[in-house]
Amino acid sequence: MNRSLFDFLVKNKIVIIFFLAIILPSLVIAYLSVKTFSQRRETIRQILESNLWISGNSALQSFENALLEKEKESLSNGNFVKLLKIYQGKPNLLESNKPALSKEGRYFLLDEDYYILFPRTGIDGKPEFSEEMDSSQQPLWEIYQKAENFEFAEKKIARAAELYQECYQKASSAQHKAIALEAIGRCFFAMKQLDDAREAYNRLIREYSHLENKAGHPFGIVASLQLYEISKNRNGDRESLEALLHLYENIKDGKWLIDIPAYDLFIEEIETSIEGGLRENNLPETQASYLSLKSRISPYLESLLFAEFLRTDIIPRMKENVSLTTVSQKDQPKRLLTHHRDKSYLISYKVLSHLEKGSHGGFCWDLRSLKENLIPRILKNIEKETGLLVRIIDELDRSSNRENVSEASSLSFSFRQFPLPWQLVVSQPGLGSLQKTAQREVLTYGVLFFVIMALLALGAILIARDITREKEATRQKTEFVHNVSHELKTPLTLIRLYGETLQRKKNLSDLQKDECYEIITKESERLSHLINNVLDFSRIDMGRKEFDFQRGSLAEAVRETLESYRYHLEKKGFSVHDLIDSHLPEMHFDREAISSILINLLSNAVKFSPDKKEVTVRLFRKNRTAILQVSDRGIGITPKEIKKIFTRFYRSKNKLSSEAKGSGLGLTLVKHITEAHGGRVNVESEPGEGTTFSVTLPIGGG
Ligand code: ADP
Repeated sequence: MNRSLFDFLVKNKIVIIFFLAIILPSLVIAYLSVKTFSQRRETIRQILESNLWISGNSALQSFENALLEKEKESLSNGNFVKLLKIYQGKPNLLESNKPALSKEGRYFLLDEDYYILFPRTGIDGKPEFSEEMDSSQQPLWEIYQKAENFEFAEKKIARAAELYQECYQKASSAQHKAIALEAIGRCFFAMKQLDDAREAYNRLIREYSHLENKAGHPFGIVASLQLYEISKNRNGDRESLEALLHLYENIKDGKWLIDIPAYDLFIEEIETSIEGGLRENNLPETQASYLSLKSRISPYLESLLFAEFLRTDIIPRMKENVSLTTVSQKDQPKRLLTHHRDKSYLISYKVLSHLEKGSHGGFCWDLRSLKENLIPRILKNIEKETGLLVRIIDELDRSSNRENVSEASSLSFSFRQFPLPWQLVVSQPGLGSLQKTAQREVLTYGVLFFVIMALLALGAILIARDITREKEATRQKTEFVHNVSHELKTPLTLIRLYGETLQRKKNLSDLQKDECYEIITKESERLSHLINNVLDFSRIDMGRKEFDFQRGSLAEAVRETLESYRYHLEKKGFSVHDLIDSHLPEMHFDREAISSILINLLSNAVKFSPDKKEVTVRLFRKNRTAILQVSDRGIGITPKEIKKIFTRFYRSKNKLSSEAKGSGLGLTLVKHITEAHGGRVNVESEPGEGTTFSVTLPIGGG
């Protein structure tokens, strides 16, 4: 194993054990719980989804049942019997199409040959029996032809009118009488016998209104238009316009069963005439009623268009379906989906076997109105019964709706019995919220896990830091013991050595004896300084250090200490400068402690000034403080170290420090004593240039 890795493992074993014992199992547990968490969620989701599928199917069933019921009601035989009765009873045509309408769509009734009985229009109805001129009518036919010859070829209108009148008298059928009467009116009009013409037309309207002329147009309409021409020729007054307006209204309401081209022709002709008449005469009331009539949707035109739609679109498909129908399905309703003029329709129809030879009765649902009216009610009922959210979407819109319809929380179903272009979308309100809850849970667990991990990591860091500090403290203490022992041993050895020399060698000169005494004294002083420091420190450490504050002159105390130390300094080759302000006011301080500060600072200056041996001691006043400064021109202290030098046992790592004697307690004591006096210590140092320690003490404090 790599050496440094080994060292790392040994050094950080507590952290590693902590990591392995707590963080790793936590990670495993978290991983397992997240895994089972998602599995559990998935299972619940699956259960809910299959539940949704079952409920969705039953919702679809309910939906189709509701539609089936509505369809059954619409296709009930009673409805069609009613329609047939109206048809057979030849009722008032204006009213006859009304029962064929309902809010959701229109009924229709076809006969066995797929002719449209309802709605009643001029389109493709069963051809009415028309009376052709048979042989018994031959003489009448001859007279009629002669009359036409006089009228059109020879232009003898009066003669023609006479012959037409003869025809009218002799004709036995209403149809023939009506044809003759129309010709009579025409001739009178041509001869300007307007009263006679009007009488003929009025009779035509009264008696033969619903019969059709040779062009297939009802006499009621044709004669009315002629009457308008007559009256217009006379004076074109309000009455004639009103009459025309009445005709217009009747046509729009379907008084006559005309087809679409005839409808368009008459409506256009009448509108042109009315608008012309209104331009020439100022008739505001007539104009107002004309405009309101014009804007009104014609129910007859609607029926006409519906019949046209049946004829061109539905009936061919119904005929096609017949061949596909089995006998058992014969009485069952059949359904078709169709689009017409941008709208979609569902056609339900069935064979009405109990009516005339199997007619067909049907109902055409307008899908838009179905969706707006009936469907919301059905959906509401289903929602109430099942507790699901149900809605309808168009199949075409499905792709665009996809994003909204989250796959997990909703399912869509196609209709089975009705060929509707829709999908029933069913969603479980709980499913979406389940997912949200699950997401929230994951988030909460995630955050919790993160917090726990962060706390554990913080714990690990704190433990590691404490361990490192503890180790460092132990190392420093060991080093301290080693240093102090060394410091004690050196002076003791010297004292003992010179003591023994004095004892044994009796013949020592006075000078030699003095030298021995001096060394013994100096080394004892050093010893006592060291022991004082250690004792002071241990007192401080145990919180038992007591100061003896007394009022006195700080300058005097500083000078005395410096003087007692000066000899020692000078002997070591130091030049000592002192700038002591003697005018400082008296202060409260512990004399011995202040002296210890100065000695410690001077001793450091000596230790760390190998080359330029110069020490300056200053004491001066600044505002309300006294500042004691000790400067040297020694090796200085790096900014990084300045932060640490006041820490107990700290000794810098440079060569000089390790060589110099010391305990690492000096500055710790200086700081403590200063603070006990209510002051502070500052250091200014330039590596290689020198260091100045400033001890600031409050005057009048302490
Ligand atoms: P010691 O002097 O016993 O090592 P101190 O607490 O008195 O302990 O000093 C701590 C450290 O501060 C010293 O080891 C030294 O590195 C640094 N130091 C103190 N005074 C000076 C000075 N005047 N010049 C340079 N370094 C100093």
